[in-house]
Amino acid sequence: MQEKIPFLEYMRDVYGREIFSKAKKHPLEAYYEEIHTCQKCELGKTRNHFVFGAGNPDADIMFVGEAPGEQEDKTGVPFVGRAGKLLDRVLNEVGLSREDIFIGNVLKCRPPQNRDPLPEEIALCENYLHKQIELIKPNVIVALGRIAANTLLRQQNALKDMRGTTYNYHNTDLRVTYHPAAILRNMGMYDLLKHDMLDIFEKYGK
Ligand code: URA
Repeated sequence: MQEKIPFLEYMRDVYGREIFSKAKKHPLEAYYEEIHTCQKCELGKTRNHFVFGAGNPDADIMFVGEAPGEQEDKTGVPFVGRAGKLLDRVLNEVGLSREDIFIGNVLKCRPPQNRDPLPEEIALCENYLHKQIELIKPNVIVALGRIAANTLLRQQNALKDMRGTTYNYHNTDLRVTYHPAAILRNMGMYDLLKHDMLDIFEKYGK
């Protein structure tokens, strides 16, 4: 039986088969094929799916979360659980959809019991993110949550101190906002997330 490739299935659902004609393979698709069988760290043994990321391979805005959770590991698609639904809602309210953006994670495989990523896992996985950025060439990277932001920026700052600041990550602007899972725990902060999204979309969207 042919292996089901969640990233490609998702992209085909969104864009239709024609953009994946053999003559015009997007380099991101080739990159998926190159890395999705990765076994560089122990997470390769426990994962169900390598969660490459999904969305528009030429997006202006690229979101980066921490690591796949249970639902993402089951499906191979990032942000499909409850936090993902909230992300879809806020994107929709600011006039964006998953067809406009690309979304991925620092780690491509789920850590058992959703524990925090280990430094050695990050060290082995982060090059994949760098290459994705190189191929997508977004105008901005949006780190979702304190852990993703501090991991990428090699620092330990509070989320409230990072919002509104423009950082540089691999020669690309990087902005930080709340992780949608944090908003689910306190819906009173939803408008802050929406405010950041609007600000980022106005500055970096088409
Ligand atoms: N949380 C993340 O950081 N990433 C996902 O893909 C899902 C939940």
